[in-house]
Amino acid sequence: MNVCVIGTGYVGLVTGTCLAYLGHDVTCIDNDPEKIAQLGRGQVPIYEPGLSDLLQTCQARLTGTLGFTMDLDDGVRAADVVFVAVGTPPLPTGDPDLQYVEAVARAIGGALDTAKPRVIVNKSTVPIGSGNWVEMLVREGIAARQPVPSGTGRLADQADRPRFWVASNPEFLREGSAIADTLYPDRIVIGAADAEAIAILRQLYAPILEQTFAPPAVAPRAEQFGAVPLVTTDLASAEMIKYAANAFLATKISFINEMANICEKVGADVVEVSRGIGLDARIGHRFLNAGAGWGGSCFGKDVSALASIAQEYHYEPQLLKATIEVNREQRMRIVQKLQDQLKIIKGKTIGLLGLAFKPNTDDLRDAPSLDIAQTLLRMGARVKAHDPIAMEACRRQNPSLDLTYCTDPTELAWECDALVVVTEWEVYRQLDLAPLKAIMRTPVLVDARNVFSPAVAQAQGFHYVGVGR
Ligand code: NAD
Repeated sequence: MNVCVIGTGYVGLVTGTCLAYLGHDVTCIDNDPEKIAQLGRGQVPIYEPGLSDLLQTCQARLTGTLGFTMDLDDGVRAADVVFVAVGTPPLPTGDPDLQYVEAVARAIGGALDTAKPRVIVNKSTVPIGSGNWVEMLVREGIAARQPVPSGTGRLADQADRPRFWVASNPEFLREGSAIADTLYPDRIVIGAADAEAIAILRQLYAPILEQTFAPPAVAPRAEQFGAVPLVTTDLASAEMIKYAANAFLATKISFINEMANICEKVGADVVEVSRGIGLDARIGHRFLNAGAGWGGSCFGKDVSALASIAQEYHYEPQLLKATIEVNREQRMRIVQKLQDQLKIIKGKTIGLLGLAFKPNTDDLRDAPSLDIAQTLLRMGARVKAHDPIAMEACRRQNPSLDLTYCTDPTELAWECDALVVVTEWEVYRQLDLAPLKAIMRTPVLVDARNVFSPAVAQAQGFHYVGVGR
């Protein structure tokens, strides 16, 4: 099938590349000229494990074709399926900023012709009702290009108008394992009012649904992995599924963080508690790690957006609000742990191990590290930082953040009064703590991700402080 993906970020680039790998002919579109130029040279502008290799496989035309352009009109006209995968970042009000979706929807309308019907698929996470809104904008885009002649007294003949359907296909991939999540998803959700649109998308996703493709080297298929469930539903339910899924996961993390805070009071160990409750099949062990709280581009903005939608309908989303508040406080609890250990923060040097909002990504959107660093800087500390991947992105995106970037954990630990594990990168789990302790001013280790065994850290001479233990 011919596919056009508009928005070549974390979601659009992975979706486009995976669809090309499956044999479709894909055009990825972005309005960022630098990004398109880089991709044209075979360079991936984001850090996502395996993506560079998969992209090169596709660009070598061993699969379907994969092209990159800024020309939306040509991409849309050639396509059977048009994905909208632009960003929907949060506004200060908590609502998502829909200006990019709006611009793209109108532009698609302006580009559509009558050569064939197309399915326009909303992959961006958007408020409930956005499918209908996008349909309206596309129609307005069509009308702007093909105005009804004035004085005719009737609408232009419908046969002269491009045919299209709007569908919702929420994305559930996780940065860091985005290729595997795309090729081996837990489910695919499609919301649309028309059976024809659903049938086209079912055909598009058939290789994934039936697992008929040969797995790429960068993402082998697990032995037991079988057919993928397809959830077909209406537009509003598909849009709600995405928000509900993220709200549930964020709530699960805030829940275990609240348990951790109670564990600290009563002398229990949240790691043991998490294991004990996670073995209950009704609960499950995933998303039950206490720490510095969730971050990233999705949880914060999606939970806030859902809360805002609820309030628009005069419903007070108490649980969602608590989920957000617990998370906000959890970041500040890490700073409090430093205060408890060091007493005076002013004039102290704190080393942050990790900047990315989670391991295996360079994404810093809503990263706890940024809040923690800003608070410590405001309190008068000197803040050093190390991250295996995200330092360059952090420097570029936060030019006014006065961090001292270090090339490795040893340079970071040098003359530090405390180290804080902010991101649970695998390399940090493997760290030999003793040499770090030897070059620090005071051996304080705040393990905000519970990656180290307290006994091991203490045996190396550290004052160890975890979360909920
Ligand atoms: P992103 O910011 O990485 O990428 C968005 C891209 O859209 C950018 O490259 C930008 O240049 C491009 N863009 C903006 N306006 C454009 C226009 N008019 N024409 C062409 N391109 C345009 O965002 P992302 O992380 O890929 O997220 C995209 C959507 O998917 C969001 O709604 C997000 O909530 C959702 N989502 C993200 C993830 C994730 O892990 N990142 C997971 C699931 C869902």
